[in-house]
Amino acid sequence: MARLRCVTRFWHPVADMSAVSASGELLLDRAEGVHVWDESGRRYLDATAALWYCNVGYGRAEIADAAAAQMRRLPAYSHYGDVSSRPTTELAERIAHIAPMEDAVVFFASGGGESIETAVKLVRRYWSLLGRESKTIVISRERAYHGLAGYGTSIVGTDTFTVGVGPIAGGTLRVPWDDPVAFAEAVDRAGAENVAAFFCEPIVGAGGVLAPPPGYLEEVERICRERDVLLVADEVICGFGRVGDWFASSRFAVEPDLVTFAKGVTSGYVQLGGVIVGPRVREPFWAPGAGVWRHGYTYSGHATATAAAHANLDIMEREALPERARALESELADALAPLVSHPLVSEVRAGLGVLAAVQIAPDAIAEEPGLPDRACGLAREHGILTRVLVGGGLQVSPALVIDDAALTELVDGLRAALDDCATR
Ligand code: PLP
Repeated sequence: MARLRCVTRFWHPVADMSAVSASGELLLDRAEGVHVWDESGRRYLDATAALWYCNVGYGRAEIADAAAAQMRRLPAYSHYGDVSSRPTTELAERIAHIAPMEDAVVFFASGGGESIETAVKLVRRYWSLLGRESKTIVISRERAYHGLAGYGTSIVGTDTFTVGVGPIAGGTLRVPWDDPVAFAEAVDRAGAENVAAFFCEPIVGAGGVLAPPPGYLEEVERICRERDVLLVADEVICGFGRVGDWFASSRFAVEPDLVTFAKGVTSGYVQLGGVIVGPRVREPFWAPGAGVWRHGYTYSGHATATAAAHANLDIMEREALPERARALESELADALAPLVSHPLVSEVRAGLGVLAAVQIAPDAIAEEPGLPDRACGLAREHGILTRVLVGGGLQVSPALVIDDAALTELVDGLRAALDDCATR
């Protein structure tokens, strides 16, 4: 049998490689502000800040300079044991200062997936250190996304991610994304003595941009406290300004035990993630006699990544980007609102943070399941890079520096794509 020819040796993440082979790769070349250019010189408006991460926009030379300077000085060194470097120790201090809980410490990883792995191990081991070994179950919200590493895949729990990979990590269960009573009942059914933590994406991102119903986060926090279940806010998307505060938890005045973060901490200029850990969970690990916690990664606390994070946070502070995001949320919602009258659109979800979804009408999707992907492809033809979320919404989460002209360009491009979609 003839071998399939490879048009690229790069196996793309989350991709249909047969389709990529047929269409070819979109080779991106450079970027500035909220725009990116491909190798042929075509310009696109990046409607999604890449994968929700480029909060400060592209072309920030000071982040590149900070990374380059750190690479020349000390690019990285294993931070196992007692070793650290100035940017890493100081970044932990800086993040603790803006964290949504008092007296926090920070465990670094290389991205969101590793931060989730770390958080699951942390909550389980926490209870084990307290002699409550049965508390291992992790509950999460349906539609939420927590990455595709081992525990992340298990917590997300949907068939699309688990099919064909054999046994995955157990001890996880899901509850409806919008119902605190269902969460309380799930804890009671499982037995609070068996539940370690609730992992909660404050605003569901990849699952469709679903804002929490009024009072939801406050209520799940109360239920966690009442039933002695740890609360883990997965702020990989929400953290670092996107929801109009440093963290969504702060915006909702919720005080989680742990916060997982990644993306916006460096705006993606260099990979970095981690877990912010409150004092309750930290204490038994840091207590005299606790011994070595055998968890960590080669790049935990990578000095170039943490130096880049400082430069990124300098920009966010100087330009008051969390406040800018708060102002932008209604501007974005107003700009997108007219699209709801388009025959292919059933809803525009926007108004909380710089996060929105233009929902392709479910009845139109029922008729043509590939419609959201087709709309997305046509948006690209009209110079807009977006992506399809679970349920068929088009993602709109631009950099926090987007201006009026680019917002207009974004909405016009999406409308043109939808018009084409209706007629082609
Ligand atoms: N958690 C959330 C809320 C995410 O959106 C993501 C990725 O998009 C992750 C975790 C996993 O992050 P990563 O893709 O860096 O592993």
